[in-house]
Amino acid sequence: MNCIFCEIAGRRSDASIVYEGDRVMAFMDIRPWTSGHLLVVPTRHATGLADLDPADGAAVFAVGQRIATALRNGPMRTEGVNLFLADGVAAGQEVFHVHLHVVPRTAGDGFGLRGVPSSPSRIALDQTAGVIRSSLT
Ligand code: AMP
Ligand code: ZN
Repeated sequence: MNCIFCEIAGRRSDASIVYEGDRVMAFMDIRPWTSGHLLVVPTRHATGLADLDPADGAAVFAVGQRIATALRNGPMRTEGVNLFLADGVAAGQEVFHVHLHVVPRTAGDGFGLRGVPSSPSRIALDQTAGVIRSSLT
């Protein structure tokens, strides 16, 4: 298997590392959306959410949260932070090793998710909630 993030986690490929622990690693994104944009990955390979060990997922989020705090408290101007994870091609995933984007934000930085909100009725929301609820395992 040829996985760039496994190569980075195994120190066989270059990365600008921010954090390294047993379960998790964080390094700078090579094509940052904003200055300071970085990725948090589980060191153990998982292609997507379906095969991600929930303990690894929890560790990824905890490190993302910690780095978000560091960004807000550190010298780089950070007025907000977006956490973003793409799971699957349709969601925009391009590297198939789970990763959490940590994106420092400042007003007017030009970054944003495109989306057009709709206005479903409560009945429609309840129906959708029921469908999803019945799929929970
Ligand atoms: P996604 O679309 O969520 O799969 O995002 C993949 C991200 O990985 C992109 O933002 C890329 O710029 C980033 N990326 C790809 N290769 C590397 C690499 N070798 N080192 C750091 N970031 C990378
Ligand atoms: Zn991998």
